[in-house]
Parts: sequence; C-alpha cells; structure tokens
Amino acid sequence: MNNRMKNQFMSTRGNLFIVSAPSGAGKSSLISALLKDKPSDKQVSVSHTTRQPRPGEIDGQHYHFVSVEQFKALIAQNAFIEWAEVFGNFYGTSKTVIEQTLAQGIDVFLDIDWQGAEQVKKLMPYAIGVFILPPSKAELEQRLTGRGQDSQAVIDSRMAQAVSEMSHYSQYEFVIVNDDFDSALADLSAIIRSQRLTCASQQHTHNDMLVDLLAD
Ligand code: 5GP
Repeated sequence: MNNRMKNQFMSTRGNLFIVSAPSGAGKSSLISALLKDKPSDKQVSVSHTTRQPRPGEIDGQHYHFVSVEQFKALIAQNAFIEWAEVFGNFYGTSKTVIEQTLAQGIDVFLDIDWQGAEQVKKLMPYAIGVFILPPSKAELEQRLTGRGQDSQAVIDSRMAQAVSEMSHYSQYEFVIVNDDFDSALADLSAIIRSQRLTCASQQHTHNDMLVDLLAD
C-alpha cells in the first residue's frame, strides 16, 4: 500500500450528527442516554444561548449561558458554525470545538433546531440529520406539561412552534418516532452504528489491519 492510501485512511474524521425535534419529543434524553455508555467516541456539542438557565442546568455543561451582547460579539468574531433565534432567545454552535473534536475521530452530536440544521448542511454536507418525532400531539403536550419546568404560556407557545419545527422533518436523512424510549434509543444507536460501518469509517478504525491485509 502506498503512502497516499495510508494517509487517506488516517485522515477520516468523526461523524457529524444533527439531531432536531420539537421541544418535548425526548431529544435531550435520547442524546444523554446515548452518551452514557461510551462517551470517549462521541460527544455532544455545548451550545451558547442567551436564554436563562432552567433549574438544574449547569453553565458549560448544558449550555454556555451568555448575554445578548456577548452573543452578538461572538457572531461578529465569526465564532459560530450556525446560530438562530428560537423562542425569542439566541442559540449558536461554536466552530472551533466541533472542528477539533471531529479531527480527533470523535463523533459529534448537534442538538439544534431546523434553522441551524439548514446552515450546517450547507457548510458541512456530510452531516447526517436525524429528526425525532413524538407519536402524537396529545403525547407531546403531556410530556411538555409533565416536565414541570415551564409556565403554561411557554408550553402553549412551544406547542405552536412544534408544528412548525416538525414541518421540516423531511429535510433529514433519518426519522425516529419516539413512542417507546428504549426502541427510539435502539433506532438512534442503529443509525450511528451504520455510519461507523461505512467504508470511510472502517478504513479509519481498522487502518493497521488493512495495511497488513493489503501488503504485498
Ligand atoms: P431549549 O431552550 O429547550 O434547550 O432548546 C430550544 C431549542 O433550541 C431546541 O430545539 C434546541 O435543539 C435548539 N437549540 C439548542 N442549541 C442550539 C444551537 O446551538 N443552535 C440552534 N440553531 N438551535 C439550538
């Protein structure tokens, strides 16, 4: 095997997954459960937001909580791959961390809305989009109410937004219906697993073995 082929094997990056869903569809829980078992090969990107932290949310872990002024300064510095206004607050994905993480061969998950997904897809067409749907509107509303972290006014507005978010589901490569949590988690794991079995990923994972197998 020549050096060009060897370098090609070594240069494969981590996979970039975009996960979107209406609020309450279970996206954050699915991503958390996914990252629990083997965090070293996958990572969720921590976004910047101007919204107030919810009870239990930790700065730097759930989000980087910043002021509107700080957020605008980051836009001016071109620090975001994408940013959007969602429910009256700004949200953005930092560029550097994602590029560095992917370069280390680690899969990155972006928990972002459809507007952000559209921007990322333009810049990084290899990103794999996964849309998570609730099984029904009634179930979605029940989940939003059951969470007990937002007021009724916020829940009503998010229900209205949910329909608009869900109307973009067909722009994603994969769709998961989160009726049964374990089954939805298995679906998400299957998507990730299949991406790891693509030729490019296998070349990266089994570089030494391939060099050996193909040696004269
Ligand atoms: P929440 O405030 O409930 O955590 O998130 C509200 C919405 O903003 C969710 O749909 C979430 O995916 C989206 N969101 C979170 N971070 C980002 C981001 O960095 N960019 C974009 N475009 N959307 C985000």
